Amino acid sequence: MKVIEVSDLRKEYRGRNVVDGVSFTVEEGEIFGVLGPNGAGKTTTVECVAGLRVPDSGTVRVLGGLGPAEVRRNLGVQLQSSALPAKIKVWEALDLYASFYPAPADTGALLERVGLSARRDAYYGRLSGGQQQRLSIALALVGRPRVAILDELTTGLDPQARRDTWELIEQVRADGVTIVLVTHFMEEAERLCDRLALIDSGRVVALDSPEGLVSRIGSPQRVRFRPSHPFDDAILRALPEVTGVRHENGRVEVSGTGDLLPPVVSALTAAGVIPADLRIEQATLDDAFLALTGKKISA
Ligand code: ADP
Repeated sequence: MKVIEVSDLRKEYRGRNVVDGVSFTVEEGEIFGVLGPNGAGKTTTVECVAGLRVPDSGTVRVLGGLGPAEVRRNLGVQLQSSALPAKIKVWEALDLYASFYPAPADTGALLERVGLSARRDAYYGRLSGGQQQRLSIALALVGRPRVAILDELTTGLDPQARRDTWELIEQVRADGVTIVLVTHFMEEAERLCDRLALIDSGRVVALDSPEGLVSRIGSPQRVRFRPSHPFDDAILRALPEVTGVRHENGRVEVSGTGDLLPPVVSALTAAGVIPADLRIEQATLDDAFLALTGKKISA
């Protein structure tokens, strides 16, 4: 089922097309990424989806065309700007948000799930960055939404807190919540998203799975290793996937296309060569974005 359908969405600020004809659909149960550099129009797009901004034109259908009140009830939103007052306690914030919904989640269980039970009496202002983020996720989920929109969820977090947050998101999805994740972190998108809309200057430049986006640019793969003993390059050059073989300081670098590793390893094995320190270098989403837009997304 299509949970969100966005068609030719446009929004202009001071004569500039910040969102310039964006279309995409989000399927039930997926983690859908909206990825692009700062200023690309990501937040504006998802705020239009959530009914928090009014688009100039285009259509947004949520859960098959619910009205605004029903959308609010079924859509959990965590936005960058939704900071809480420093002097509100964790449980107070959660109770307050729960009171907005007819059938909220059990707040104790939700605190447990986001790992904040021990901090339920703490003031928001005293929480670490990671704890504040986890609370904001809990607030987005307290209405038991079918869809959660999470904007720049891990910005400013240290790597451990970021990984913990990613795990939490995967658990939330496993509970059946569809997730729209706005991010400018490639690694986050690559790790979490089933499909992505790459956004640049208000337009969708590509829409695919992370693997699909990377394979689309058809960039070469490289396999490096240290051979157990010298061998004749011809055994690798004979492989259709291989385009080049280089030797450097006792290491061998094989470049080629497609799924390079299995044929290289079996050709070596057949010749009695054991590849040690085997490494594979693949193109990343960063490379895909660069190839598609000519720009780098900087974190
Ligand atoms: P992103 O989320 O990709 O960083 P935004 O949607 O926040 O991008 O912003 C896209 C562009 O629109 C930015 O250049 C921003 O300055 C501009 N913009 C966003 N909201 C407003 C607003 N309310 N008034 C004027 N300009 C805005």
